[in-house]
Amino acid sequence: MREGGRGVADVLQLDNEKQLLKLLYAGQQIPSPNGGFLMLLGVRPAEDGSALAIFECSVSSLRYELQIPKATRTERKKVKDELESGSEPDCPRHGSGTRLERAGKDLVCRACGVAYARA
Ligand SMILES: [Zn+2]
Repeated sequence: MREGGRGVADVLQLDNEKQLLKLLYAGQQIPSPNGGFLMLLGVRPAEDGSALAIFECSVSSLRYELQIPKATRTERKKVKDELESGSEPDCPRHGSGTRLERAGKDLVCRACGVAYARA
């Protein structure tokens, strides 16, 4: 358990974020530190293009949050190339079938909340 997230009432941080992010992008069930699994309640996009996933443990009802890193340069380039070639880009992390959608000035994946391009 890391420090941080204090001040946000009873929302806990998760360890081994990389492993959990992989499961999240693959649409697989995420094991809870308390047993059971974590149910995704929602994804909150942040100003800087990253996002925050909020989970609830199916057993303890404790809430957890997971920081979803913003788009890398490689991901942005991939999306930009697809836009320029006239195709509708998919989320580089969720893969084909998860279209990026226009949200304000950005192209955002609804599933991970990350902004991958300027619309
Ligand atoms: Zn995504």
